[in-house]
Amino acid sequence: MKAAVFKAVGQALDVETVADPTPAPSELVLKVTYCGICGTDLHATREGLTTACCGQILGHEFVGEIAEVGPEAAGDWAVGDRICALPFIACGQCLACATGRFFECEDKKVSGVNDQGGLAEYVTTGCRESVRLPDSLDLQTAALVEPLAVGIHAVRMANVKAGSRIMIIGAGPIGLITALWSRFFGAREVVVSELAEVRAALAKQMGATAVIKPDVGQGAEALLEQFIDFAGGPPDVIFECVGAPGLLQQCIEMAPYGSKIIPIGVCEQPDAIMPFLGLVKELNIQFAMAYTLDDFETSVAMLAEKRIDVSPMITDIVSLDDLPVAFEALKTPTSQCKVLTKL
Ligand SMILES: [Zn+2]
Ligand SMILES: [Zn+2]
Repeated sequence: MKAAVFKAVGQALDVETVADPTPAPSELVLKVTYCGICGTDLHATREGLTTACCGQILGHEFVGEIAEVGPEAAGDWAVGDRICALPFIACGQCLACATGRFFECEDKKVSGVNDQGGLAEYVTTGCRESVRLPDSLDLQTAALVEPLAVGIHAVRMANVKAGSRIMIIGAGPIGLITALWSRFFGAREVVVSELAEVRAALAKQMGATAVIKPDVGQGAEALLEQFIDFAGGPPDVIFECVGAPGLLQQCIEMAPYGSKIIPIGVCEQPDAIMPFLGLVKELNIQFAMAYTLDDFETSVAMLAEKRIDVSPMITDIVSLDDLPVAFEALKTPTSQCKVLTKL
């Protein structure tokens, strides 16, 4: 099969022919139709804590049709079934696996990280980790289920409810999806802080009630003032969806007494905070990562019932052959939001 393969830091992905995957007894082979490119994939091609190994096929946001069914998965799954899947193949034996929390399984493979990913014609999925797509859900839209699951997981952890005032730092794909779910769960105000005009416009389409532009050079106080101007009060929850040093401290400074900060952005550098400030405000800082099976299933169901709409986020669709160039372009600031590879 053809696949986009990571070679080395500083080198573009290479589209080459590699061996077709074969399913283990409880695995499925998926013929990939779409695979989204994610910040995590970009991180994996840079020097850092998550740098991929040479030969790794990236991609964990894949959808398509089943091409082959492992013997233990037969009965539940058939060739031609349309599915998406959590990008994990977990042990299936532990308590975490039994309750759909595959990310917590200590004995799991992660597609696109330490197992081959979906930027390829075929990828293996676990039969327990796969989710069937209803007929009313097209594959292109379903390619957004993975980032939707990241967002719903974080918003559920934050306990966003009717009337909440929400602040979201950053309108990248995860910030936008966090805005969508916050609105879905009944937040009264969803105010997104974003510098780039294109992303600010997209944030409004995705459910933000207002977008504020942080004044570079001005601190947290000025941003909080802007927030209160629109929201009528301080935030109940602040989602940090950028992952740059300094932002967590800024959130701590803005957060009112007893509120919640949910860091979702991936920050791989050491970052200084002043714990005393969080202490005296009794802040609840809750990191959020990945998703459960239910986060996937709920995202699929809400998309299929057209109760949420992610179409404004899909800005580009590229072929596998054009992917290496598109992938490099995403490493510098761009007006693109979600870029999908069409296989
Ligand atoms: Zn992702
Ligand atoms: Zn397990």
